[in-house]
Amino acid sequence: MTERLNHYIGGVAVGPSSGEFFTSTNPATLTSLYEAARGNAEDVDRAVAAARAAFESSSWSRLSPTKRGRLLRNLGDLIGENAEELARLESVDNGKLIREMRGQMAALPEYYYYYGGLADKVQGAQIPTASYDVLNYTQREPLGVVGAITPWNSPLTLTTSKIAPALAAGNTVVIKPSEHTSRTVLRLAELATEAGFPDGVVNVVTGFGAEAGAALVSHPDLAKISFTGSTQTGSRIASEAASRFIGCTLELGGKSPNIIFEDADVANAAMGVIAGIYAAAGQTCIAGSRVFAHKTVYDELLDLVTARARTIRIGDPLADSTELGPLAFADQLAKVESYVDIGVAEGASVHAGGKRPDLDLPGYFYAPTVLTDVDNSMRVVREEIFGPVAAIMPFETEDELVGLANDTEYGLAAGVWTQNLARAHRVARRLDAGTIWVNTYRAMSPMSPRQGFKNSGVGIEHGLESMNEYTRLKSIWINTDEGAAPDPFMMRN
Ligand code: NAD
Repeated sequence: MTERLNHYIGGVAVGPSSGEFFTSTNPATLTSLYEAARGNAEDVDRAVAAARAAFESSSWSRLSPTKRGRLLRNLGDLIGENAEELARLESVDNGKLIREMRGQMAALPEYYYYYGGLADKVQGAQIPTASYDVLNYTQREPLGVVGAITPWNSPLTLTTSKIAPALAAGNTVVIKPSEHTSRTVLRLAELATEAGFPDGVVNVVTGFGAEAGAALVSHPDLAKISFTGSTQTGSRIASEAASRFIGCTLELGGKSPNIIFEDADVANAAMGVIAGIYAAAGQTCIAGSRVFAHKTVYDELLDLVTARARTIRIGDPLADSTELGPLAFADQLAKVESYVDIGVAEGASVHAGGKRPDLDLPGYFYAPTVLTDVDNSMRVVREEIFGPVAAIMPFETEDELVGLANDTEYGLAAGVWTQNLARAHRVARRLDAGTIWVNTYRAMSPMSPRQGFKNSGVGIEHGLESMNEYTRLKSIWINTDEGAAPDPFMMRN
């Protein structure tokens, strides 16, 4: 019988109030993996109540920040000890390569160590106001119950980007993972209990976006929503948050340019293009899906990228030698196929790929694809495909390039390949994106803040700055003058 996974609420597994479960499938083999609880508003209500009770209980609210930090570091250690298990569970659930997931799991403890170290460094300031007799100081307080809604492409990493700073700042959390990848986030919650977090501090309700997700966002006891996913869903969540005046951090879609100047090391740049669009089968928000190559290096770059794209080893994501796994589920494959058809109908040429590969496995595989004869007017260049499809375009001047690269609704990331130091800094400044990589791509660290510009997001994840996303700032005024009260009709300072 297929294994059944329940919600995780108040430190224990809790069955769905509806009694309903849904199936998760391995996208490489199309075999059933497990059934997860189908959460609804009642389940969300239980989880938020557990999180609220934990937030108010002295075992969490009075815990010293240093001890909170230690719990985070314990959790980091446990993730490290269970890294291989977590990597395998995630790889079979979303089809990402085991080598990619091993890399992510190896990096994950660092997030908990980093934010664990910050837990007792969240401090206010003494403000030098105009009045000698007033002591004014600020303090940063946790918000309360934070909702974290995450996608399927890197479930634990993207959940961690939210909950590590949220917990370090003293909040409690309710996580709603993607319906495509429930398992590892449930395992993370169990590890949090094992690490010593009080019951109710970390809760997980599994289920669908329109049911469990929407119920979480609209729950009256939620203090903040932190979301990673599509721009379309993010917009809906932002409207709901705005209607209730709660904060939201949104990490959304992208259509990032990867730019190769005439003075670049073209062989390295070609590998950067491959990393940007074919790693993780292009299923990353930061995919370098728009490739701009200077006209003098365009042919060389195209040849190098195409040659490598055609030799990428496609297959079982659990095999160490595999370089490209399947797309995560049937709709993802259908979406990628339909975008390539749209591109061809718009006049694009399929220079490589453009079809499903011949494989022994039945899963949702799609060959690494290169589209040429494309420009910024086409949907394949404007819209996020979220698959292994690169659109490669020539440009002539730096000014033209900056215009083309910024001509997008998104602003998540950009890659720049050049040996010219002045150009690297100049173009990095002119690009309208929250993360710029020069002579590298897809580099990430818990210490380095990232923000989506334009339709790619609101607020900051990672780094010192993201701690502020999970606190509120209180300003406290103490009058130290015990003499007669001043004129009541004048503003005081
Ligand atoms: P999605 O928006 O479909 O779903 C994301 C999450 O939101 C899921 O848990 C889903 O169940 C939930 N959800 C859906 N509808 C909801 C609703 N009405 N109310 C509340 N929750 C709802 O996105 P996806 O397909 O899971 O993920 C892919 C998208 O995520 C891509 O656009 C990608 O660019 C983006 N992404 C962004 C980043 C980033 O850091 N900027 C990282 C990874 C992925």
